[in-house]
Amino acid sequence: EAQNGGANRVKGFMAEQEDRISREFFLEHELKRALENNELAIFYQPQVSLKDRRIIGMEALIRWHHPEKGLISPQDFIPLLEKTGLIVPVTRWLISTVCNQIRDWHKQGLSMAVSVNLSAEHFDSLDLIKTTKEALDETGIDPHYLGMEITESTVMQDVSGASKILEELAGWGIKVSLDDFGKGYSSLSYLQRLAIDTIKIDRYFIYDIPENSQNITLANTIVTMAHNLGKEVLAEGVETEEQARILRELNCDYAQGFLFGRPQPPDKLSFG
Ligand code: C2E
Ligand code: MG
Ligand code: MG
Ligand code: MG
Repeated sequence: EAQNGGANRVKGFMAEQEDRISREFFLEHELKRALENNELAIFYQPQVSLKDRRIIGMEALIRWHHPEKGLISPQDFIPLLEKTGLIVPVTRWLISTVCNQIRDWHKQGLSMAVSVNLSAEHFDSLDLIKTTKEALDETGIDPHYLGMEITESTVMQDVSGASKILEELAGWGIKVSLDDFGKGYSSLSYLQRLAIDTIKIDRYFIYDIPENSQNITLANTIVTMAHNLGKEVLAEGVETEEQARILRELNCDYAQGFLFGRPQPPDKLSFG
């Protein structure tokens, strides 16, 4: 019986693998169709200054409007975009759309900065440099209004590629943020090795403030360290007034989270 159980477990495992593989094939096919049919959209979430609550910029977050399944979260399809290399044309579209959006906002008198998230796939070619240069030239926007967000795990996959690409972009005035800071395996050496302007404290360290006083201590330490290195700090996932107040007292510069606004399509945003 024990042996049979083992065989069944193996069979179960194989079926699971086949399931996963056929699901991925299906999803990849669906994603290619999604690109052709313009089913991808960009939502924007405000980033505010904690001193005066002014919106200083937006983070561009990708969404997939699936015709049958509805809105699909990036966590469910970004990994496959990365695995298939489709992330490269998608980011090309994203950067060009974002630059056009920045220009449109400027025409309306709104000087919004917008940051986009990068994947490790962007560090092994010059495609990102070319894409960004073209988008900036076409729209004529000042590069200071464009930001790029990278995570430690993204950088870890190709540190020298990442540092070359980021140095080039930072040289034009593009702002670089280190996203999800503190999550996973952090290496403080990236803070020196890469051209980083802003550190984004991961939501994991924010959500249980104030109950978790250790996380207040950690946030405090990150802010002090960042400022000593000449960098600014943004807290992710701020959901309550009390969290905003505490972070403001810790001298954290910026915040982003449901308290200030959820990610929205551009026509639904309010700038008040
Ligand atoms: P991220 O870059 O860390 O983005 C922040 C995520 O936290 C977003 O999830 C946002 O909706 C969510 N969030 C913001 N404020 C709050 C809050 O107060 N509470 C809670 N519980 N959540 C909050 P989203 O949009 O689902 O994106 C998830 C991740 O997918 C992003 O994490 C980013 O890593 C990735 N992603 C999104 N768009 C892109 C993209 O265009 N390219 C790449 N490479 N990755 C992307
Ligand atoms: Mg991000
Ligand atoms: Mg993040
Ligand atoms: Mg993340």
